[in-house]
Amino acid sequence: MKTHRSAKKTSDLKPLSAHLQWRRTKIIATLGPASEKTATIEKLLRLDVNAFRLNMSHGDHDSHRQLVMRIRRAAKRLDKHVAIIMDLCGPKIRVGKFEEGAITLQDGDKVIVSSRQFTGQAGLISSQYRQLHKDIKPGERILLDDGNLELNVSAIKGRDVHCKVIYGGLLKNHKGMNLPDSQLSTPSFTAKDKDDAKLAIEADVDFIALSFVRNAGDIQTLQRYLKKQHADIPVIAKIEKPEAIENIDEILAASYGIMIARGDLGIELPAESVPLLQQKLIQKAREYDRPVIVATQMLESMISSARPTRAEVGDVANAALGSADAVMLSGETASGKFPVKAVQTMDRILREIENHQWQSNSFGQRIDQSSKGEYPVREAVARAALRLTDDLKLQGIIVPTHSGTTARILAAARPSAPCIGVCSSARVNRTLALHWGVVPVLVDEPATHDWRSLCSVISNKCNLTKSGHTVLLVSGFNDEPSLNEPVMKILEV
Ligand code: PEP
Repeated sequence: MKTHRSAKKTSDLKPLSAHLQWRRTKIIATLGPASEKTATIEKLLRLDVNAFRLNMSHGDHDSHRQLVMRIRRAAKRLDKHVAIIMDLCGPKIRVGKFEEGAITLQDGDKVIVSSRQFTGQAGLISSQYRQLHKDIKPGERILLDDGNLELNVSAIKGRDVHCKVIYGGLLKNHKGMNLPDSQLSTPSFTAKDKDDAKLAIEADVDFIALSFVRNAGDIQTLQRYLKKQHADIPVIAKIEKPEAIENIDEILAASYGIMIARGDLGIELPAESVPLLQQKLIQKAREYDRPVIVATQMLESMISSARPTRAEVGDVANAALGSADAVMLSGETASGKFPVKAVQTMDRILREIENHQWQSNSFGQRIDQSSKGEYPVREAVARAALRLTDDLKLQGIIVPTHSGTTARILAAARPSAPCIGVCSSARVNRTLALHWGVVPVLVDEPATHDWRSLCSVISNKCNLTKSGHTVLLVSGFNDEPSLNEPVMKILEV
């Protein structure tokens, strides 16, 4: 193929505006052995990682406590607002141990999976899930090791589930087990999760993510537990079960936000259904003003290679074009060889896409709700802010906020100007760090009503002042809708 001489080079697409000093799509990095040192955490913060995930499937409480302290201290030193998400493992099912560390399953073999506790051997697999024999039926599938191996259930005898191997392979100790066709009786919030949630409260993390959520009740169980402990930590629902897709409206209504956990979602459902589901879930979350995270395998090859595959670059770009609030790195930063490079790569891809979106005025695909007729006040104000941003080429939207609600509502509308969330609470600022396009700014005093001087101070602080330029001030939303008193002001800075 001939190279097109006049094709635009990346360097031609330099940011045109102070707007683009902040990346709109947020980056979440999972911490682990590859990134747990203070020096690495600082490097990641300098690259503007917006949230760190602590994966409770690995590590002990002491090491997680240490990590929280290291993150908080590093963020303070570097003056960054970074959120900490504690990811509870939920009822993740695993196989037990094998005498030889692994067994090989051949296609067509007969094999027993049992909820009895023993050390496995050829033809005999123990499952850590004690209710397996009660919850599964003949004809249903058991998937092993991220869905690479597949069994079909032929009969259940006592605690033993007799299966035929459909797709065989090597099965090692403690590999994951998914039961995509079965209704599990186990609660999503397990005894281990309760223990981990206690640590979340003690360490004062900013978000708790709950795995394998099936309905709003799963979220509410955790919220009730937190309330009993007098803790107010927002809960993110990990969407990775077919039931969660069916119940997505009630889950969105009950939770703070969602994570599209594509790893398990792509096992429980056909992998080819995940890209469209991703698009739909992002749109749905925005309709509810909820942040949405796209997770798993985004730059998977960078676990062992310094450069991503072209397909991975496309995947990160696609999440930004689809307007996710945040994209997440898992093994890439937790246990990979290039944790810092992985974040740098992700940052570069996102900025390239956002630069293009800015220049082509296609920032954040707008949700078409024209069929809706009348809008709730919050949405109407967000729509008006969008329109004003475009019509007046606003430098920024300044949002004094107590609880973060106003900033969250505006962020879900994806305005092209950055949304400067001004708040006197460090905690609220850390939660805002997760939201698309929101730049948290900490002020000493709760927001005053001298809007002009507030906007002038903030614009200076954020480098948004060019004479004659305008900012929009939006305030007055409350978590309790009856207390809403929205105000919009257009101010020259
Ligand atoms: C996933 O399954 O995509 C996911 C994010 O969950 P975990 O990393 O806990 O498996």
